[in-house]
Amino acid sequence: MKEKTRSFSSIKEKPYPNWTCVPCGLKHGGKAKLVSTFHYGKCDVCGKNAEVTEPRDFGHFKHWFTK
Ligand SMILES: [Zn+2]
Repeated sequence: MKEKTRSFSSIKEKPYPNWTCVPCGLKHGGKAKLVSTFHYGKCDVCGKNAEVTEPRDFGHFKHWFTK
């Protein structure tokens, strides 16, 4: 099996989201703190309008740039 070379060339196509909805937060981050300040707006991950909050409220999206 060939080893994949880690490359950061695709990062520019995938800016770190300012806002995320709950499903996307759970998918990319971890457990929600649920003390977050939600507001209604556009999720930067899926593009839908929903209750959104900051990725840090899901423990940050640690694997955002590596998936
Ligand atoms: Zn979303």
